[in-house]
Amino acid sequence: MSFVIGLTGGIGSGKTTVAKLFAGFGIDIIDTDEIAHKLTASGGAAISSIRKQFGDDFITVDGALNRNKMRQLIFATNDSRQKLENILHPLILAEVTYCVTQANSSYVLVVVPLLFETDDYYKIIKRILVVDCDEQLQITRTIIRSKLEKQEVKAIMAVQISRQDRLQKADDVILNNKDMACLQKQVSKLHHDYLALSLLC
Ligand code: ATP
Repeated sequence: MSFVIGLTGGIGSGKTTVAKLFAGFGIDIIDTDEIAHKLTASGGAAISSIRKQFGDDFITVDGALNRNKMRQLIFATNDSRQKLENILHPLILAEVTYCVTQANSSYVLVVVPLLFETDDYYKIIKRILVVDCDEQLQITRTIIRSKLEKQEVKAIMAVQISRQDRLQKADDVILNNKDMACLQKQVSKLHHDYLALSLLC
């Protein structure tokens, strides 16, 4: 598999929703959030390094990452966010690279929420697709979906790349300000474009 598209966007912009629509066309989706979740679940490959770096307090009795505790720590200190990323990023990248070799569809989508905040993926991906929506809508959808407070959503958005910079770096943009039918139409058009481009790879 050589035609790999990086799918990114701010929190709650609609990345998962868009990825599901591409999956509906039979496209293989590699989701880095899902990979990170597996790595930090009970018995996951990142657990021993996390325990060594942060201590037993950050691992639950079941042997999984204590997500609440870690979330509080990384919001309080940038340094700990970096330390966690140093453990997770190489493991996630290795798994993504493996999954790409296993993919069967004409092209593959790798969902990377923080694509622009790390340069890990530039070697793998050929094209960047950004899901974009108005920031107010992004906040509202995230609050409804996640039970986060408005201030928490804004704090997450503040550490992500700005909307303007994200759009500037995109090869393709899906504008997710309207309903699902509008989203489906855009995905359908891009799917056909990507099928054509995949023939050139
Ligand atoms: P995160 O960054 O938090 O992982 P995400 O970018 O993957 O979020 P989604 O989970 O796809 O975003 O969407 C956020 C919420 O908004 C979900 O509840 C989803 O159902 C809803 N949503 C996304 N797009 C639309 C749309 N066009 N119309 C209505 N609801 C939508």
